[in-house]
Amino acid sequence: MITIEQPAELTLFVRRQKAQGKTIGFVPTMGALHAGHMKLIEASRKDCDLSICSIFVNPTQFNDPSDFSKYPKTLDRDRQMLEDAGADVLFIPAVSALYPSGTGHLENYDLGYLESTLEGRFRPGHFQGVCQVMRRLLLLVEPHMLFMGQKDYQQCLVIRRLLDLIRLSTILITCPTAREPDGLAMSSRNLRLDASQRAIAPALYQALTRAAAKLGKSPWETVQQEAIAFLEEQGFRPDYFELADAGTLRQPPAATANTVIVAAAFLGEVRLIDNLLSGPLRPASPRRR
Ligand code: AMP
Repeated sequence: MITIEQPAELTLFVRRQKAQGKTIGFVPTMGALHAGHMKLIEASRKDCDLSICSIFVNPTQFNDPSDFSKYPKTLDRDRQMLEDAGADVLFIPAVSALYPSGTGHLENYDLGYLESTLEGRFRPGHFQGVCQVMRRLLLLVEPHMLFMGQKDYQQCLVIRRLLDLIRLSTILITCPTAREPDGLAMSSRNLRLDASQRAIAPALYQALTRAAAKLGKSPWETVQQEAIAFLEEQGFRPDYFELADAGTLRQPPAATANTVIVAAAFLGEVRLIDNLLSGPLRPASPRRR
């Protein structure tokens, strides 16, 4: 595995590989890697000739400065995991390399409804930051395929929209959420849970599976109230627990829609998110052009 820090070097490397006919898979991350990230690398290696992973803790997507400063950093371990997983390139740019003119006064993206609902509502500006960094990364690599996780379901829909907005033909593949044996969705932020919070954390997934089992049997409002009460009893502070259209995240979903139950809740200072789809996981892929 080679490590690249300079954007221009990455672009040159990718251009040479494409000239040899190689297909490029891209896995963007913020590091503190875990088995969920490795599933994305695995999927990329299966479908593409060359797999590039980026590690970049993007300052513009954190609406809470302390969440940014406390984001876990485990670069040596990450490098070893990527090496073991067979990634070809690790890209670790500095903030000044991706944002040469600084992080103030950045471009704005028209994300429509996705901007103001769920994560967009509770983390104002978050998806603008995600798009700001993702556009920069995507234009450097112009990958054939982009691999992202269902855990961040709304983010996948936002990136599908971004690909359309910037007219890239990259295919977005959404990989299923990797979970700990007790059901907790793997997340870099889990490292910030203390032992008692870690013991409680799987209740978020339990709340989702219980709610999914009651869908269609009780009115959604009842299911939702029970889930929120259960989470609060366990010690969570829920931001939301909603049933939404899986394609648009509109709430309530149309009766015929595939649905997703999405949840976000704090345990102490740590904010966890998770979701369950009622239908099959459709790759959140843009049209092939
Ligand atoms: P992050 O480093 O948290 O920004 O995540 C980088 C990528 O890994 C995103 O596409 C996430 O959705 C994905 N990811 C994070 N956690 C998981 C998980 N438990 N299962 C599958 N993908 C994940």
